[in-house]
Amino acid sequence: MSVQNAMPSLDVLQRSCPVCDNPPSRTRGIGIESPPWRIAACEGCGFVYLPETPAQERFVSEFAWEKSWEKTRDERARAQPILTALDRATRFRLTVAKRKAKDVLARVALPGDVIELGCGDGGQLAPPPRGLVPFGIDISAELAALAAERFADYGGTCLAADAISGLEQFEASRFTGALLHAYLEHEIEPVAVLKALRRVLKPGAPIVVKVPNHASWNRRVMGPRWCGYRLPDHVNYFTPASLESIAARAGLDAAFPPGWTLPTNDNMWALLRARA
Ligand SMILES: [Zn+2]
Repeated sequence: MSVQNAMPSLDVLQRSCPVCDNPPSRTRGIGIESPPWRIAACEGCGFVYLPETPAQERFVSEFAWEKSWEKTRDERARAQPILTALDRATRFRLTVAKRKAKDVLARVALPGDVIELGCGDGGQLAPPPRGLVPFGIDISAELAALAAERFADYGGTCLAADAISGLEQFEASRFTGALLHAYLEHEIEPVAVLKALRRVLKPGAPIVVKVPNHASWNRRVMGPRWCGYRLPDHVNYFTPASLESIAARAGLDAAFPPGWTLPTNDNMWALLRARA
């Protein structure tokens, strides 16, 4: 009897720990999985990440972030109506550090060209604050086209590419600042991307980062039901310490200005700069 394989073959990438390079075999699951995906902690440094991920090109359509998020949210709401309601009811805590990413960037970057990685349709940067010319890179051709149209009104553009090949298309020391808003948690090569980004930034130019904070109190209270867990599209679960380690591997210093990173907030903000 022959068995028909109804499942398409999965293109699974194995990842070493981006903080300490431990191989994916040296991880232990943390009880959150949806085979073949699992969230695991590195046995070397404790970093929580996905040791196996879909090949990057599959994110473009099949695991498009926005679709995956809607699915996860709906599933979670069905499975955990009380916890979900409680989570929503306590959303007031988010307002503590609620701010527009582009205004944060405008406060720390000098006037000039700025770039956002994973800019989606360009909604974060357009219209840009005075003095900033928006550029972007997004892996989704559809979203990149929308962003390119938006950014063109202000003298910028957007490339449809993965971050590393997109950044290679810009000359060194081009930009006065960068925005990584809800981006690094999706990136399977965070150190390589930060190195490539560093090359195109002017000396001392800031990178504004916003990522979910795996060290937040809400994550500890909600456990596996924390809103930051998303399989398979959130592939890195940063804490302030591990974000600092990954930045250091790319030659960047991480700072957490007062109020930028609070344990009461599911997300944290950080400011990275090339080391002098
Ligand atoms: Zn590690």
